[in-house]
Amino acid sequence: MSGAELTEMRFKSTRDETLTAGFGEALEQGLAPDGGLYVPVEWPRFPGGAGGPWGSLAETGTHLLAPFVEGGPLAQSLSAITTEAFDFPAPVVPLGTNGRLAVLELFHGPTAAFKDFGARFLAACLARLRGPSSRPLTVLVATSGDTGAAVAAAFHDRPGIQVAVLFPKGLVSPTQERQLTCWGGNVRSFAVRGTFDDCQRLVKQAFLDRQWRRERALSSANSINLGRLLPQIVYYAAASLSVWRLHGERACFIVPSGNLGNAVACIWARELGLPIGNVVLAHNANRTVPDFLETGDWRPRASVATLASAMDVGNPSNMERLRTLYPDLTEIRSAVSACTVGDEAIRARIRAGYRELGQIWCPHTATAAEAYARLPRERRESGRWVLVSTAHPVKFREIVEPLIGRRVPLPQSLTELFARPTASTEIEADLASLRNALRQHGTEDH
Ligand SMILES: *Cc1c(COP(=O)(O)O)cnc(C)c1O
Repeated sequence: MSGAELTEMRFKSTRDETLTAGFGEALEQGLAPDGGLYVPVEWPRFPGGAGGPWGSLAETGTHLLAPFVEGGPLAQSLSAITTEAFDFPAPVVPLGTNGRLAVLELFHGPTAAFKDFGARFLAACLARLRGPSSRPLTVLVATSGDTGAAVAAAFHDRPGIQVAVLFPKGLVSPTQERQLTCWGGNVRSFAVRGTFDDCQRLVKQAFLDRQWRRERALSSANSINLGRLLPQIVYYAAASLSVWRLHGERACFIVPSGNLGNAVACIWARELGLPIGNVVLAHNANRTVPDFLETGDWRPRASVATLASAMDVGNPSNMERLRTLYPDLTEIRSAVSACTVGDEAIRARIRAGYRELGQIWCPHTATAAEAYARLPRERRESGRWVLVSTAHPVKFREIVEPLIGRRVPLPQSLTELFARPTASTEIEADLASLRNALRQHGTEDH
């Protein structure tokens, strides 16, 4: 027993490195007690990606994540967890004629966005961390669209777990709203009379409220949770290894970025020794990160609404993780570059992608494609570039269809979802309204 304790990998807070937790604890806590984000204390290495059982995505996940869960409560079930979480593909699809460009499609999961990977892994872990005598768990999630759908899908029908999805009433797309409100059972959706920031504030307030904490065990499924971030390393590992095997070159990734969870996963994969070259962060008009790389001043600000709405973040929380890894500006500048793409350029790129390559891109993926087009020619021609496609275009069909002049076909998984009835409860943007609404839920279902 004490041997297991000795070998358990530790994670430390980005704000105080003496605050550490094992993997299971870090998942259940979400945020470290000082408000910091958990990062690995040290990095296992997979040099050059050589050797090892790199087979399916699930096998890759088991191999890669084993050192992180070793000695902890999830060590024995890791392979079952990855088999359950990674049961859909993440193909690297070649694009165009020069043979140096490809797309990594991360939208083949149940809600058609990359957030399915992290949400499903987190749900599979939390379900196994619960004992027979655990208190019922309430997962609170504030969403501007994709996160809530992925989390609802991943936790739907899990015994002993309730999910409350909070979204800003009238501020998500009709397609997204369907995905947020079609679950029923243990998932309740709340249309909050307010903005996304109000939804996030409500979740934070609930966490700080003593009475809430007495009444129920709370967990957060937002992307600050290590249990959503670590599994995202897996598709970068698989994709970079497939490029390496085919071409013997490192893959360079262009990542559509908002809160930087997906980008940090890519950089962490490179840190583990996987064959990854340049990482480019493609932002929309929310330019906090590109401005920081240019000026060295970190200036978080209010977000502005754009076509690529899942990246409308003015104060990206995962920047803390990046700055812990690269404490000085010179290091961070050599580790990543960034660009900012306005709505007009996003529209133009969606049109061009369809016209020139027959690709239908969601606005987020189009941001990455535009960032690629803006790279200096010699950088484009010397690298093996992979555009990260974060969502299926049908999720944003209200934007995409008029630009390309045709309907976007619905994937099978969404056809089934869209056939379900929807329901949501409208609430005021205050904690008392949320508590009342949740209490009613409790008596209905149990
Ligand atoms: C969440 C999301 C992003 C942004 O990812 P981050 O990890 O927050 O940087 C990009 N595209 C889509 C479609 C998303 O849902």
